Amino acid sequence: MLERELRRLAETLRVPLSNLVRAVVEDAVAVADLASEGLELRLRRLATSLGHERGKLRRRVMPDPLDGVFAFQPVKLAQAASCAKCTTELRRGQSASLGLRDDARPSGVRVFVCSACVPAD
Ligand SMILES: [Zn+2]
Repeated sequence: MLERELRRLAETLRVPLSNLVRAVVEDAVAVADLASEGLELRLRRLATSLGHERGKLRRRVMPDPLDGVFAFQPVKLAQAASCAKCTTELRRGQSASLGLRDDARPSGVRVFVCSACVPAD
């Protein structure tokens, strides 16, 4: 079922289902206007092709995890974390960089990035 596929995709991408649905529907409506096929058919096709577009969709749906970060502070982790960019697991005792932001996010989530993901410039 389409709903189940979308739900599973939202879990995979770790985005709110509503965000994903909005992105998918916007795509579908834009194309459905041009094509003479039904919206549901279009949605189904889109859902099946989402596997290929996962990265693209994720960038659209997800805000940049490093948005608002003004500095990176090298740290040694005291707790396990995961890289905000590539989601690599970061173990306790491992070196990582803490993204510093002025505004506390509503979620209050700190962002750590692995050494490979620290922006070079
Ligand atoms: Zn990383």
